[in-house]
Amino acid sequence: MNEKLTELRDLLGEVDDISKAASILSWDQQAYMPPGGAPARASQLGTLSRLAHEKFTDERMGRLLYELSKETRDLPYDDDTASLIRVTKRDYEKAVRLPSTFVAELAEASGLGTTAWAQARAENQWDGFSDHLKKMIELKQREADYLGYHEKMYDALLDSYEPDMKTREVAEMFDAVRRELVPLVRAIASNADRVDDAALHRAYDPAKQWELAHEALRTIGYDFQRGRMDKVPHPFCTTFSNHDVRVTNRVLPDFFNSAFFGALHEGGHALYELGSPDRFERTTLAGGTSLSVHESQSRMWENLVGRSRAFWQFFFPKFKKTFRKNAADMDAEKMYRAVSKVQPSYIRVEADEVTYSLHVMLRFEAENMLVENKLKVSELPAWWDEAMSSYLGVTPPDVAHGVLQDVHWSLGYYGYFPTYSLGTFFSAQLFDKAREQLGDLDEQFARGEFAPLREWLTENIYQHGRKYTLTELATRITGEPLQTRSYIAYLKKKYSEIYDL
Ligand code: ZN
Repeated sequence: MNEKLTELRDLLGEVDDISKAASILSWDQQAYMPPGGAPARASQLGTLSRLAHEKFTDERMGRLLYELSKETRDLPYDDDTASLIRVTKRDYEKAVRLPSTFVAELAEASGLGTTAWAQARAENQWDGFSDHLKKMIELKQREADYLGYHEKMYDALLDSYEPDMKTREVAEMFDAVRRELVPLVRAIASNADRVDDAALHRAYDPAKQWELAHEALRTIGYDFQRGRMDKVPHPFCTTFSNHDVRVTNRVLPDFFNSAFFGALHEGGHALYELGSPDRFERTTLAGGTSLSVHESQSRMWENLVGRSRAFWQFFFPKFKKTFRKNAADMDAEKMYRAVSKVQPSYIRVEADEVTYSLHVMLRFEAENMLVENKLKVSELPAWWDEAMSSYLGVTPPDVAHGVLQDVHWSLGYYGYFPTYSLGTFFSAQLFDKAREQLGDLDEQFARGEFAPLREWLTENIYQHGRKYTLTELATRITGEPLQTRSYIAYLKKKYSEIYDL
């Protein structure tokens, strides 16, 4: 068995090297590449994706996995080797369904689509992007057919980001949450004057914002010896190894929240990847297990920590030192309330905690209709504006603030959006457990102690890499699968107090 296992690890290592090289090209494309580099970069990414896919789906890989899974049958489920075979086999069985030529075509279309999207968004023009979107939807329909599905075409796409999750389950959870959110948003709206966030919408020097975003990352324990932060139009976190996990961010000169909470959010993703153990490197067990679990980490540091009263009791003096003039009429309590302000708005990434999931639900609905041909690309902008008005009561002024705001569809990420909300639900479920086991988290945060929470997450989540699925992790840690109860209770408690409901 040992020889076969070594061979398997060598093969997986090479696949991982190629994939990480592609990730570096993709990071560069979004952070530094001049627009003229787009066509060449698209073909470079296409080639690397094809090579990684060919290597991973090679017959030898299939043979090794088949034999090793027989030989490891008696090992315990948690065993590293048993888990490596199980997780790789799941990835492999999925990957072999996609022809390499298709994978390259998809990678190339996603490279060109992203550039077209960035341009269309900058110019506030829908037309330059709609053909790319049509092409991408056709590709994703083909992908769903290759992958196979029982109930809904969307199931096949969702499964790539959240293994085993079904469209029906997401719809049920979303319905349950929507029923609670809509009256909550309405009640808050009638007491909107309880919170004033004007201080966050003043001029904030971009260089100082950038420095404070670094400070926020240091505060939660992000290690700049193993990471860095660069500017991009749409923030993300990317991993080249568990010793090089980079965050990206953007700064708005007249809005404080964007860079600061962007840093905490991407930093939360990064802590997860940095906490993946060395022994999993260059294998399929490295990194985060699924997008929802990943998002539970980013949303936890961004909101449950970063938008807590206790966090601002600790951090306000730093804010005040950096922005003396803007902070003059503020204190920790006002800051806590201001960063928690609920205000239906156009932009998902800047949405408050209460309305955030409504943005996601709208995209979930749109994606389902697009892949099932129930909504045409040409009808999408008008549908979007109408849906925004019915979900959130606001109508975007233009496509840049509406249907073109997110990069996902240009990249071919369909089935991705729901994981933002599933992760948010999971973050609250986890946080309840952390509170139960770690004592008074608020007292710790107010003293600037974030290590106990980080260590708890390392112990319960990070150290397992991709070994367990969302449902397995949730059950191991909290005794039950993903639920929405904790999230709803958290929102009701926090916002009833802030808004006197
Ligand atoms: Zn995220």
